[in-house]
Amino acid sequence: MPLGGVRAMRVSRTLPQRELPTVGAWCFLDRFGPEPTDMRVLPHPHTGLQTVTWPVAGEIRHRDSLGSDVVVRPSQLNLMTAGPGIAHSEFSLGDRPVLHGLQLWVALPDSGNGIAPGFEQHAALPRVSGEGWSATVVLGDLDGTASPATVFTPILGAQLELDAGAEATVPLRKEFEHALLVIDGEFEAAGTRVRPGPLLHLGTGRGELRLSSATGGRVFLLGGAPFEEDLVMWWNFIGRSHEDIVEVREAWESHDARFGSVEGHGGERIPAPPIPPLRLTPRRRG
Ligand code: MN
Repeated sequence: MPLGGVRAMRVSRTLPQRELPTVGAWCFLDRFGPEPTDMRVLPHPHTGLQTVTWPVAGEIRHRDSLGSDVVVRPSQLNLMTAGPGIAHSEFSLGDRPVLHGLQLWVALPDSGNGIAPGFEQHAALPRVSGEGWSATVVLGDLDGTASPATVFTPILGAQLELDAGAEATVPLRKEFEHALLVIDGEFEAAGTRVRPGPLLHLGTGRGELRLSSATGGRVFLLGGAPFEEDLVMWWNFIGRSHEDIVEVREAWESHDARFGSVEGHGGERIPAPPIPPLRLTPRRRG
């Protein structure tokens, strides 16, 4: 099943997984780089989700069908809300810059029906710290400090930072499901050794996260209220049924006005792949 995301780059995709379709409303997580790359992603659509671009290194120009034309820089949140339809392009700046970062999707309730498309850039995100740790709050809130970003479900996204040799206890919400991905360094998290690569699923019911690091480094912490709606994810679309996906795919292919157009590409865009000859079904927890 072809899922969209950053193309023409090596990515490590840790969501969705067969046994783990979501963590809270987080439903897609790609890590790219660090690697010298020219990123050239022509206009393509999204529905039913928010995209979160979190660059760690490199600069990416984002243009969308709302008329946004911005440069995405490290430590800035770029949040695009598709609602029922949006289109955007992403191009790296410079000649084969070293790109490194995360691209995530957040599922919208009810496929984004009634939610207006939008784009937000937050250059100054709130910081919060405790003994042995500090964090940038990207989405939702951590230990009482809230991100200004627009969200539609109870959620958390934060970049945690530890110095070499630090031991920390980070407060969590027990009712949330959590997972973490190491950006750099090596950690022991909740008794498990973790390094860049796999996603560590922490589940629900944890009031705190014990985290230590001999090397120091950064991790991205994902959390949220368990997302109970069925999700049918295909290419760059999220719906609730096979029919939803067929409908939005046809809308993109027929240049339906809901997707608008992204200026500056001379009409070039990424066509949708054909619908596979089987019924698309919801991703369910294994
Ligand atoms: Mn995209």
